[in-house]
Amino acid sequence: MAYEDSYKQVQSPKYECILFHVDDTLYPLSSGIAAGCVKNIEDYMHEMLGIEKCKIPELCKVLYMNYGTTMAGLRAIGYDFDYDNYHSFVHGRLPYDNLKPCPELRSLLLSLPLRKVIFTNADEVHASVVLSRLGLEDCFEQIICFETLNPIQKNTISNDVDDNVAFVVPKSSPSSTHSISSGTEIFDIIGHLFQANISDDEIKLPKTPVVCKPSEAAIEKALKIANIYPQTTLFFDDSIRNIQAGKRVGLHTVHVGTSQRVEGADYALENIHNIKEAFPELWESGKVNKVKHNGTLLETCVIS
Ligand SMILES: [Mg+2]
Repeated sequence: MAYEDSYKQVQSPKYECILFHVDDTLYPLSSGIAAGCVKNIEDYMHEMLGIEKCKIPELCKVLYMNYGTTMAGLRAIGYDFDYDNYHSFVHGRLPYDNLKPCPELRSLLLSLPLRKVIFTNADEVHASVVLSRLGLEDCFEQIICFETLNPIQKNTISNDVDDNVAFVVPKSSPSSTHSISSGTEIFDIIGHLFQANISDDEIKLPKTPVVCKPSEAAIEKALKIANIYPQTTLFFDDSIRNIQAGKRVGLHTVHVGTSQRVEGADYALENIHNIKEAFPELWESGKVNKVKHNGTLLETCVIS
């Protein structure tokens, strides 16, 4: 059955799948992983891309706000780099030791009679390390991550002309707009956004080749890859931008890490460990039906 056809025919069960973000959702923000990421991204921008230190915090913020991730923004404004190299630099030195196994959460997830899928902007290595550290590596049927959403751009060798640029940037550039050795110009996004008298209509930013949340296209792509339907999926994420984008795509949404429900979030859940107290119906309504499929006995979950 075509995806579009089955998409329209989804009915009765309220939830068939739970979609989980990873960072700061399956473990608390206080673990220090997020802070470590910020520091490592800033170091990468200085040490590997030659961006002046004093410009990095504002540039990070602007790129993150406009492109979803700093990496996506760096690519958009003209920097080229190996994605694996970026990920290993940014994630390689994180304080993973702060993440401890969560047997209670593992038991809860394993007993949850619904499909469970991971959806993260991070690369596969990071997602796997985090899930392994938390003891949750066997709780999910699929991991949708950077490589899933960006299969062609994983390496710098591709048909994308932007990917073939030799990449050398001087340690200190005279301004935020400069040319790298190949002649590719770095777009001065801060200068562009903050120039006087520019109206919202005139703000045209270069596009990024990176597919990531909170882009609605990225979310739709993830749903299609996992073959899940927004109407019957409950989406847990700590990022309000991701939650709001998920809501626009039609997902049921749970904003994790806060008790304050904001616009775009159907629910707020301070700690993922309280998932069963907050959503007991996910367990209570699951009935296991045994059906035959190609002669093999399968178990399927039916939500009443
Ligand atoms: Mg997060």
